[in-house]
Formats: sequence, structure tokens, C-alpha cells
Amino acid sequence: MARRFGPYGGAYVPETLVPALVELESAWNFARRDPKFRSELRRLSETLGGRPTPLYFARNFTRRGRGAKVWLKREDLVHGGAHKFNNALGQGLLAARMGKPRLIAETGAGQHGVATAMIGAALGLETTIYMGEVDTIRQKPNVERMQLLGATVVPVRSGSRTLKDAINAALRDWIANVRTTHYLLGSAVGPHPFPSMVAEFQSVIGREIRDQSRRAFGRLPDLVVACVGGGSNAIGTFRPFLHSSVELLGVEAGGRRGSHGAASLTRGRPGILHGSYSYVLQDREGQVAETESVSAGLDYAGVGPEHAFLKDSGRVRYVSVSDSGAVRAFHWLAEDEGILPALEPAHALYAALREAKGRPAQENIVVTLSGRGDKDLEVVLGASR
Ligand SMILES: *Cc1c(COP(=O)(O)O)cnc(C)c1O
Repeated sequence: MARRFGPYGGAYVPETLVPALVELESAWNFARRDPKFRSELRRLSETLGGRPTPLYFARNFTRRGRGAKVWLKREDLVHGGAHKFNNALGQGLLAARMGKPRLIAETGAGQHGVATAMIGAALGLETTIYMGEVDTIRQKPNVERMQLLGATVVPVRSGSRTLKDAINAALRDWIANVRTTHYLLGSAVGPHPFPSMVAEFQSVIGREIRDQSRRAFGRLPDLVVACVGGGSNAIGTFRPFLHSSVELLGVEAGGRRGSHGAASLTRGRPGILHGSYSYVLQDREGQVAETESVSAGLDYAGVGPEHAFLKDSGRVRYVSVSDSGAVRAFHWLAEDEGILPALEPAHALYAALREAKGRPAQENIVVTLSGRGDKDLEVVLGASR
């Protein structure tokens, strides 16, 4: 398991966290090779999560592009409505195996908090979710969901009272309670072993795309597209294709026109954030920049270190799509296919359609539809007014 991806990754953490990370790495190294762990993961992915998710041919959306065929990998149909379940389940099972009865997590928009609370309930693990106080007000329905699922939600009142303060609070809790507690990180970010571990749990997406593409159109796709926040659905989508000739495209949030949005790879530069060396959006003095995006799930100044490496190596191309592009793609998919996409993958849909337009009809493009859009209705209706 890679500790670094080229120069990126690593574990830039306080001394007090090192034993917890070492314990996690060794537990994960055993678990990933243990047939019992793998079969339990597979069983619950299928019976609780609803996997495998379908690969859907978007006929009408394809007509709109008048070019290459567009297929959707339907992670919006996973239990909870997004790919986050894949990672929460994997880490939850690992926590149980390590004999840790308690999960903690931090959440910004609340989607990862809800996924963690679901898994905590299903596996019988006590669950505490840290959330900036500002976010608990903005995202009240998700706070209520977490509470109904039996989790304790702790509003964090320090600093700017948003995601980065929630991360600090969760880290303090982990340091104090590491014997009983697993910190369930929500994306392919943070110190080693999280980026590798989360990527492996999400790689089920790309493996299924590979097998389903062969069945649906007899070969691998020509192009695979996914949105990049922290980068977990994208790395899970890309990994099984890294050693093939399939073209890979990661799509970041460009924010409003003229802003830097949350596009760490296309507009940031290398730096350290949350325990890992990767691309970070920062100002001239190296302070982490404020981000803004219409999609809460992409609104993060950092990105997983494996993406930083894949960008530098040229194996994956990264672009950004603006808020307004994402909102337009949301409406297109709703009207063309009867599917309300989350605003995060709506960025990928916009980029995919742009690509489809310039390609022949025999080519196949697969887009990972990382989640459903029910959570975004208010934002979309506000943006269209
Ligand atoms: C959280 C979220 C994302 C962004 O997270 P990644 O780790 O980049 O995948 C994307 N799509 C949806 C639907 C999300 O909930």
C-alpha cells in the first residue's frame, strides 16, 4: 500500500496521532487480504447497500450532445443516495474488527455524517459526528437525519464554526479516545493510510464499470469522467483503469465565474493540509484560501494526494466547471432522463457532454453519477430564479 504517490501524501501529523495511524495501517493490511473481511464487505455492500449499481445508457442526454454515447454509473442508487456508503461501510467493518465500539466523523454538508450514522446503527457502533455550528444551521435536515439514526451531533463553536473547525474537534477527540474510537474519514484525503484505504473501498465503482462496459458494449469505455472534491468517487472510478489506455477526466468545482471556486488541482499549488502533501488552494502567503461552490460536497481547499500525482504525471486530465454549468447540467439530466443528479456530479455531466460533442457516435463515455440531487433542490431552485 502506497504511503506516497510521487512526492505527495505522507502523514504530517502530531506525534500523538502516530500510534493510531500505525495501528490502523496494520489492521487494514490484514483485513484487506482476509477472505472473511472481504466476503462480509461484499455481503453488506449487496444486501444493505444495493450493489452492484447499474450502468445506464443515457439515450436522450446522448442525443443532446449529438456525439459520443454517454453512460451513467448509478452511485445515486446506493443506500443513502451517494457513493459515501462504500467507504463508510468499509471503515465501519474495520473499526468493528479492531474492537473499537465507537465511530467519530466530521461533516460539512452532512452527507458523510449521515453515511457514518447509518453504518454506526447497522453495525451497532456508538457514533458521534462533529459539525461546525454554522453548518448545523445551514444543513438542518441532515442533522435531524443523523439524530434519527441514533448518532450524537456535536456543534463546534470555535473558529469560523465550519468544516475545518469540525475536523480539528474530531482530531482532538481521536487523540483523547484512540483506544475505543475509530475516526471515519470521509474522502481519499488526510494522512496515510486514509487516501489508499478510502481509494480501495471506492474502487468497487471502477471495477463494476469495467465489467459492465464489457457486457454492455463489448469493450472498455473510451473516456471515464468523475467529479473531484476530496477525490474519493473519482479515484475509485479511475483506479481500475490506470493501467489501461482509457482516457480519464476529473472535474473540479470552478465556483462562480471569476472566482477560484474549489479547484485545488487546476488552480492550487502543492502544500500541506490535514496531514497530507497535495495540491491546496492557497493565497500568496500560503494561507489556505476560502473556497466557494454551489455544491457543498466539492467545497474543499484540498484534494487527495493520488490525484496530485496523477495530474503531474499526465495520466488524468483535470478541468473545472462553473456553478452555472453544473446547474445547467442538473436541469438537462432531470428533463432528458428523469434523474435528479446531485450538484457534485452535475459538474462531471457538464464536462462529459462537452467532450461527447466533439467525438464520434461509436465512442463510449462513462460518467460516475456520485449521488442523487434531492438534497440540492433548494439551491437549484434558488439559482434558477
Ligand atoms: C461528498 C460528495 C462528493 C465529493 O466527495 P469525493 O470524495 O470527491 O467523492 C461528490 N459527490 C457526492 C454526491 C457527494 O456526496
